[in-house]
Amino acid sequence: MSGKPILIVGSISLDTIETISDRRESILGGSATYATVSAGKSADVHLVGVIGTDFPAEGMKIFEEYSHDLSNLDQKDGQTFSWGGRYSEDWDERETLFTELGVFTDYKPKLTVNNNTPIIFLANIHPELQLSVLQQNSKRECVIIDTMNLWIDTARKKLKEVISYCDVLLLNEFEAEQFTHRKNHDDQGAVLQSLGPQQVIIKCGTKGARLYSGHSVDTIGVFPVQNVVDPTGAGDAFGGGLAAAVAHGESMTEAIINGSALASLSIEGFGIESLHRASNEEIDRRKDCLLYTSPSPRDATLSSMPSSG
Ligand code: AMP
Repeated sequence: MSGKPILIVGSISLDTIETISDRRESILGGSATYATVSAGKSADVHLVGVIGTDFPAEGMKIFEEYSHDLSNLDQKDGQTFSWGGRYSEDWDERETLFTELGVFTDYKPKLTVNNNTPIIFLANIHPELQLSVLQQNSKRECVIIDTMNLWIDTARKKLKEVISYCDVLLLNEFEAEQFTHRKNHDDQGAVLQSLGPQQVIIKCGTKGARLYSGHSVDTIGVFPVQNVVDPTGAGDAFGGGLAAAVAHGESMTEAIINGSALASLSIEGFGIESLHRASNEEIDRRKDCLLYTSPSPRDATLSSMPSSG
């Protein structure tokens, strides 16, 4: 596979998901899983994470298909991380039913030298863990980070520290407001850039994504999905798609378009099923639609970014 290798760290989970019309129990999920499937469709992924002894063989098959290197996928005695969520009818709200850390409780990744990759995607997980992975990689050229409301609330200081080493920060609009205490996206972008990352992307659901890059601002649209089945992991699929495009040297606008196309596919099925099924032709078709409605991918290239560390 061409392009630079990407290290992905995040949660690997067995999710229980309830929507207004359906339910799935213990299906493959987690931020690193969605990101790996999304990025692994076009890029060379090195997955970092931990699973328990209950982890299903079908899950391993997925990782073998989408991750080039699994030497940092640890299996420990105990239960795999699990999470349950229930969506409201209009998808606007999601209630967390349970979070069981399982083998993630005392997980301390020790990377093999093989995983000194130039691109790192720190998908949503405790910032302490994100930092530990970052510190073990001396070859990093571009670090992309995602997080969630829980860590903004409970581990803000550590999160700020990790963000200070990152080049690209991904937050949704609620997290951006929670983190910055500002209502206006432009103000949020400025505050977040001042923490370190040269590029800040605020994901605004169906309204698209705002890209703050240096002094420029762009809005990139989303591919309209008629039939949402399960929005879980859309942000992680977005991040994985974005990281893959960065690994191929594409501009940040193109990277957001790739992320948006993969996120739109992800929400059309439960868990990773629709993302896994998606053909390259369908991904390209969605990217073409998005390109047509987005600013030209002229600026914000990876080469204009300083390296971190
Ligand atoms: P998202 O829909 O982007 O919030 O991502 C959903 C995924 O995040 C699910 O597959 C969960 O397993 C995972 N997840 C939920 N809570 C956490 C947490 N506290 N830390 C890491 N991953 C989590």
